[in-house]
Amino acid sequence: MIRVETMSKAYGDVTVVDRVTFDVGAREAVALWGPNGAGKSTIVRCLLGLARFNGRAEVAGLDVRSSGKAVRRLIGYVPQELSFYDDLDVGETVDLSASLRRIDPARADEALATVGLQGEHAKRVGALSGGMKQRLAIALALLHDPPVLLLDEPTSNLDVGARESVIELLESLRRDRCLLLTSHHLEEVGMLVDRVLAMESGRVTLECEPAALAEELGLRSWLHLVVAEDQLSGARSLLEAGGFNTRMNSRGILVEVSAQQKGAALALLHSGGLEILDLEVWR
Ligand code: ADP
Repeated sequence: MIRVETMSKAYGDVTVVDRVTFDVGAREAVALWGPNGAGKSTIVRCLLGLARFNGRAEVAGLDVRSSGKAVRRLIGYVPQELSFYDDLDVGETVDLSASLRRIDPARADEALATVGLQGEHAKRVGALSGGMKQRLAIALALLHDPPVLLLDEPTSNLDVGARESVIELLESLRRDRCLLLTSHHLEEVGMLVDRVLAMESGRVTLECEPAALAEELGLRSWLHLVVAEDQLSGARSLLEAGGFNTRMNSRGILVEVSAQQKGAALALLHSGGLEILDLEVWR
């Protein structure tokens, strides 16, 4: 559905997107993942025809340069920085967007229902929580029922609870759409997408499934395990004997694990007859 071939973009002498090639299928969800400044948003802006670039990009077989208008009709875009009229209410906001874009007003209610904002018509936009604003932005992007959704850092400005609910919404939307999002959150990428393109300094440095990303990047985390006090030293010896690096803190044992070793550490304790009373993963 989306095809990008050797896309490059420079601002002055600085190349910010450097020969990037990828494609995204019609029912696929892909993340451009990487630190701030890696070039993720620039790719999205190029796809939307908001920035000029070298190379080629197509959406549904249409060239984004020569058929920009037709391409934009296929795309729902959720920008990173949301801008609404705070004094309008939710209903007025979707109605205004629908009328400006000549979209059937009946779609407004459907789009609000899709994002779980039905019944919130009369709420002033300025009074919405961050999560609700993000839902509203997604509703606006869905008004014309596009087959492609582009989301720029969809959860980066949200607190944990709102983030979870937006992720849940995006999970439901991705089933019958092509979804391309940018993110610097490993967890959200892991939950949402089929494939990750890791970017650094304008280049795609790695392409893999999300489960493999932490491993590929060599990221390790710590399991914090709480076991009964009389089992602490036994548990620690067992883990050390099993090749795990461990530490103690006041409440339990910390076990250093790679992304794929978490289960192995727990299985080892279980096989030794040790009971885990509580468990957290620390990154
Ligand atoms: P990301 O989305 O990965 O955080 P961006 O695509 O926003 O990265 O930015 C990539 C690089 O391009 C950054 O160094 C940024 O400062 C630069 N950049 C983005 N837009 C412009 C612009 N309009 N003019 C000059 N430099 C820009």
